[in-house]
Amino acid sequence: MKIIRESPYIWRIKKYDNMKVDAIIFTDSKTINNSEYQEAINQLINVATLPGIVKAAYAMPDIHWGYGFPIGGVAAFDKDEGIISPGGVGFDINCGVRVMITPLNYKDIDIDIDKLIKEIYNEIPVGIGSRTKFKFSVKEMKNIIENGAYWAVSNNYGISEDLNNIEDSGKIIYADSKKISSEAIKRGSNELGTLGSGNHFIEIQKVEKIYDKEKAKEWGLFENQIVYTVHSGSRGLGHQVATDYIKIFRDNLKEWNKKIPDKQLINAPFNSQYGQDYFFAMNGAANFAFANRQVMGHQIRKIFKKIYNVNVKLLYDITHNIAKLEKHNINGKEMDLIVHRKGATRAYENQPVLIPGDMGTSSYILIGTAKSMKLAFGSSAHGAGRVLGRRQAKRRLNSSAVINELKEKNIHLIAKSKSTIVEEAPEVYKNIEDIVNIIEKIGISKKIAKLTPVGVVKG
Ligand code: 5GP
Ligand code: MN
Ligand code: MN
Repeated sequence: MKIIRESPYIWRIKKYDNMKVDAIIFTDSKTINNSEYQEAINQLINVATLPGIVKAAYAMPDIHWGYGFPIGGVAAFDKDEGIISPGGVGFDINCGVRVMITPLNYKDIDIDIDKLIKEIYNEIPVGIGSRTKFKFSVKEMKNIIENGAYWAVSNNYGISEDLNNIEDSGKIIYADSKKISSEAIKRGSNELGTLGSGNHFIEIQKVEKIYDKEKAKEWGLFENQIVYTVHSGSRGLGHQVATDYIKIFRDNLKEWNKKIPDKQLINAPFNSQYGQDYFFAMNGAANFAFANRQVMGHQIRKIFKKIYNVNVKLLYDITHNIAKLEKHNINGKEMDLIVHRKGATRAYENQPVLIPGDMGTSSYILIGTAKSMKLAFGSSAHGAGRVLGRRQAKRRLNSSAVINELKEKNIHLIAKSKSTIVEEAPEVYKNIEDIVNIIEKIGISKKIAKLTPVGVVKG
């Protein structure tokens, strides 16, 4: 294997053996030479062997090991010759983030952050297997699966303006509830508006710094402003869809998959019935996730209205685990591609790009660029990315030390479980500043604002 340094932050592995295209990694020399990332880089090389892959298999600077495809991976396949793979989307279909903005200044609320996060914690079910008290009927679930955030807004969870600020307006049209098992629908029926556990969070943040005054103003951002981020996905419903289709592909597409270098890369030709069935089921789960974040975002908005009597706007809601049908210009030719972004964010020109860091440091609002369209199918990173696995974190850290560390920074935390606190401690993630600097140097997105946490709700 030969790694060529194309520029200070772009590394190319020339195709060899069964690779159909090169692999390209956006990172620094520290990460590329770190043996801990070798496994994830090997996963990227495996992705480059899959049928119909176009241009290259890409990895963002927050790359780390994932199921089949690395997290932080972007791979686009020809619509007619290529494949779709559940491992290229991830188990939490349409895990994503939204940032909502208030007109409040930090000094307006710093005395009652505990009260604010407690209200949120009491309103929104959080933690492993968090559920709502009520259950939706199968009929209503089908409606949610096919209409996403549009369903939520039609049912008074939001205002119609919200829909303009969600990727795909929060409703992907290629969704069919008939392709989703009754088990998955049952799991989702009391999970709408629940956060989940672990990495998922609600965070009240302060705009610490503005980098682009004009754009920030246009987007309604100002220094010391209070905003909040919701990070969640499709809960048990999406997980079940992924599990179901991996099994369906295993049972029915053995011959087609006999050459894959890793069984976790199981896939179907996109244009086959199996491929289409997964695509329509996956998008149904994605719509459920859009509705989920819309419901939670709106409930928090109502809490702000109640406590501070202010109106909250949605800046943007983005997915970072999905496969999408998109048109891209490849060597002067427009092609229909199925773009897998797994732990990667769409970063179309002028679009807000939301990258959380960790609960003790900072998070960023950026903007997509024309260069991102040229370099990586309009994609960017999705987070800081893990450096410590959950088990390692538990061995090395303890929850009271993490709580104290946050307290010293005046960050208020409510978490359902102590193990979440250590598994999600700032130390388990890479430095977000490094990630964002790499992205900006390469030019796939540009910084607009930096956010620092003031209150965190975790599962
Ligand atoms: P993932 O979807 O891969 O689980 O998480 C995306 C990113 O969210 C992680 O890479 C990490 O940088 C970030 N993250 C995880 N927990 C928190 C948190 O509590 N607060 C903030 N601001 N970011 C977090
Ligand atoms: Mn998730
Ligand atoms: Mn996520």
